[in-house]
Amino acid sequence: MIVTGIRTGIVSIPLRKPFKTALRTLEHLRSVIVAIDTDTGAIGWGEAPPTGAVTGDSLGGIRGAIHEFIAPRLKGCDVNRLDETLDVLDGACVRNTSAKAAVDIALHDLFGKLHGVPLHRLFGGRRPRIESDLTISVNSPEEMARDAREAVGRGFRILKSKVGKDPALDIARIRAVREAVGPDVVLRLDANQGWMPREAIAIMRTLEEAKLGIELVEQPVAAHDLEGLREVRRAIATPVMADESVFSGLDAERLIALGAADFLNIKLMKSGGLRGALRICALAELHGLPCFMGCMMESRLAVTAAAHLACGRGIITRYDLDSPMLCAADPVRGGVTIDGPWLTVPEAPGLGIEGIDGVAWD
Ligand code: MG
Repeated sequence: MIVTGIRTGIVSIPLRKPFKTALRTLEHLRSVIVAIDTDTGAIGWGEAPPTGAVTGDSLGGIRGAIHEFIAPRLKGCDVNRLDETLDVLDGACVRNTSAKAAVDIALHDLFGKLHGVPLHRLFGGRRPRIESDLTISVNSPEEMARDAREAVGRGFRILKSKVGKDPALDIARIRAVREAVGPDVVLRLDANQGWMPREAIAIMRTLEEAKLGIELVEQPVAAHDLEGLREVRRAIATPVMADESVFSGLDAERLIALGAADFLNIKLMKSGGLRGALRICALAELHGLPCFMGCMMESRLAVTAAAHLACGRGIITRYDLDSPMLCAADPVRGGVTIDGPWLTVPEAPGLGIEGIDGVAWD
């Protein structure tokens, strides 16, 4: 199966309500859709949303990297020699992890189709379905409490609350969310780099003293501040998860050597796709460090790839694949089935994606 060309287009999907973190506010999900054409007529599907605040990518940058650097190298490559073809993709340019992720996902889709295997089986076939959390955006304590109650009404038993915009308000926010949902809902926090180490320690100790039952705190400090992350981890009882600090297997290796995190949050847009994510899994498996499978503001297409990996590997024990659940529409046909918080991977070969509507192709 030989790659004959790569097409890219843009899809725009309205959100149910604006998505707000310490880093950004979004009203639409906008993403680059990738279709790889082959000499057999099979099409490989991929996707990459730009996340300027985390990966530095833009819609134009992702498409530019694919058309200027990646497509010319990949044309003529053999999908059946997947590892070699992924080396070509990796060598096409440095960084550009989102562009590479879109193409890596599409190549894995084709490889699965070629061999008649659903990707989650290729990755190990650990489980057929997973339970995602739902993200509660940063807003006033009252609005966050309302959103949290609504999420529980939709069947979610795990909530991820965004914090980190204003340390004094954060404590009121978490208290309001916990009071709104009661003691049984799992509550995790994501500060998206919003705190200094000392602030993080003070806030987390206050939350611990108030017995608000926080499962873990994600990326309390700046992405580059691995020592700060370790300082926070040592000073508090709540487990600490690295997100923006871990893109690649090399980052994971550094974090593990430093003892800076209890959990690693794997996202395909940071790791450059499924092969990079598998490298993080391998390190985490060796060291017994449980992983999260997360996502950017991705449509159900890229989330299907993430779900295949998360269902494949036992070391991925927690799931934050809620971006399609935050959307007001779903143009993706086929792929992972979503029922409340549950994601069930399809048994069709590859990703199991049939197509996506409303894409503005070139
Ligand atoms: Mg995060």
